[in-house]
Amino acid sequence: MNLILMGLPGAGKGTQAEKIKEKHNIPHISTGDMFRLAIKEGTELGKKAKGYLDEGALVPDEVTNGIVEERLSMPDCEKGFLLDGFPRTIPQAEALEEILGKLNKDIDHVIHIDVPEDKLLQRLTGRRICPTCGTTYHVLYNPPKEDGVCDKDGSELSQREDDTEETVKNRLEINIKQTQPLLDFYKEKGVLMPINGDQHIDDVFVEIEQKLK
Ligand SMILES: [Zn+2]
Repeated sequence: MNLILMGLPGAGKGTQAEKIKEKHNIPHISTGDMFRLAIKEGTELGKKAKGYLDEGALVPDEVTNGIVEERLSMPDCEKGFLLDGFPRTIPQAEALEEILGKLNKDIDHVIHIDVPEDKLLQRLTGRRICPTCGTTYHVLYNPPKEDGVCDKDGSELSQREDDTEETVKNRLEINIKQTQPLLDFYKEKGVLMPINGDQHIDDVFVEIEQKLK
């Protein structure tokens, strides 16, 4: 089964990726892992990618696409794969079509874990940290015993700059703009599989499994 996994930050992609990988015994291929592997193995493309990454630059599509092709050609992808973090743009999606054509493969489903924006905001802005001991909490998932106070040392909890509503909202908006054309692209191809991500982690997985059948 050849799958792509999509979802905004906070949608719970990582957790579902682990479950899908276990259940179907297919490799979970994230862009970061792919780059790390190519660099570790010292392939030509890996060396190129390393050059860009070392400079803190964006890796150009021709390099990324080449690395994707190398990775999808590996024997462990014969039974299928779960792509995560690629494609990010329409040109990359088109390149992926070409790569899969060469390899005589096709995408079976694009799993889109859908969570309403306001719910994502709640999830992503809920993190609190203790400035004294560094313990992290989450107002919804892992709250301190007393609101806003560290369980261990009684310090007042604070919020990271990255977790403030304004920053998170900006990040989400950028992601939504980037993702929408891809969702349309795969919907058009008839492979988009929307999943309600606004439910318990286990139920999200149950829905994925039901729809994959
Ligand atoms: Zn503390």
